[in-house]
This record gives sequence, structure tokens and C-alpha cells, in this order.
Amino acid sequence: MGQKILVVEDNELNLRLFCDILRVHGYEAEPVRDGREAVERARGFAPDLIIMDIQMPHISGLEIIEQLKADEALQAIPIMAVTAYAAKGDEDRIRAAGAEGYVSKPISVIRFVEAVKGLLKDREQMPEFSSSAVERAEYDDDRQLLDIWYAGGDRYSYFDVPRPIYDALLTAESAGAFVNSEIKPHFRCEIEERRRRFRPAAD
Ligand code: MN
Repeated sequence: MGQKILVVEDNELNLRLFCDILRVHGYEAEPVRDGREAVERARGFAPDLIIMDIQMPHISGLEIIEQLKADEALQAIPIMAVTAYAAKGDEDRIRAAGAEGYVSKPISVIRFVEAVKGLLKDREQMPEFSSSAVERAEYDDDRQLLDIWYAGGDRYSYFDVPRPIYDALLTAESAGAFVNSEIKPHFRCEIEERRRRFRPAAD
């Protein structure tokens, strides 16, 4: 199953267009027509990316982005803002609210898909971990940085992880399953290092 993308857009035609493009490219797209439902739907759907229209009735996309970024469980999900009015300063305001990406309407399909792929890149590299996959975990209290070494050889660093999450990992029945469900979807992650011990020597 493809990665999950929540699409928040009040315009029915745009909503269908965005979802169709995403599905053609193998993503699982979930439409949200009413911005007031966006935060709750994000909680339930646990998307890998959120596409957010800015001009909507009842609530502005900017306001929703701020709510999502203030929510500990949702703030790590990348957001791509989509807006028709690209006045000077708009992109700055959208990025200041916390959106990681920005595309203006009318969209170019190629640029839209490239922007989606770019924002999903870190997550695409992360496999589902089996129960025995976690070899070692280290936590840096000052930086709330969690380093996890996997049996396959990679070290992943998760940022802004609260201490109780690390404590729960240590007592989890299956560390791999805990990372899959409680850490991976919620925190920003980078692969810091690829160990070379399984690779043949150069000479
Ligand atoms: Mn709109």
C-alpha cells in the first residue's frame, strides 16, 4: 500500500484533481472538504503528508497549519500548502506558520508531484521494522534526540522526541513495532549513517 496523503481542499474540482493525481502515482489519498475537520481527520488517518489549501471558508489553511504544528502527535507530518493568491509575502507567511512546502495554483502536475515526492523522501527511506529489528537505542536528554540502531545496519536519528516516549520504547514488548507505530509517524527522522561492515572492502 502506498504512502498516505491527507488532502484538505474546499473546492470539489481541485480536491478530485489532487486525489486523482496522487492515486495515479501510487499514493493513498484521503479527501477532506471541510477545514474544520482537518486536525481530527489527520489524527485518525495518520498521513505521511498533508496537502493544505489556504483559502477556505470557516477556517483558513494557515490557522490549520498552526494547529497541526502545535500538536505534539501531528507536528512531524510534513505539510504542503497550496494557494491561488501568491501575493508578495504569502510564501513567507505560509512557511512561518510551519508548512514545509508550497505550491501555487493553478498547479503544474509535474511540479506538484515533484514537491510531494520531495517532502516524502525521508519517510520513503524508512522501512517497516520487524519486532527484532532494533539493536540499540540512545537518548540525548538535552536535545530530545533519539538514536536507534537497526539490525540491518542503519542508524536513524529522531528529533524532538519527549523523554516518556523513549522510556516507553525501553519497556515495549516489541521495540520494532513500537517504533513503527509510536515513533516513526510522529517525529522527524534522518538517516545519519550507513554502516559499512557488510560491504566488501574496496581493494
Ligand atoms: Mn479554497
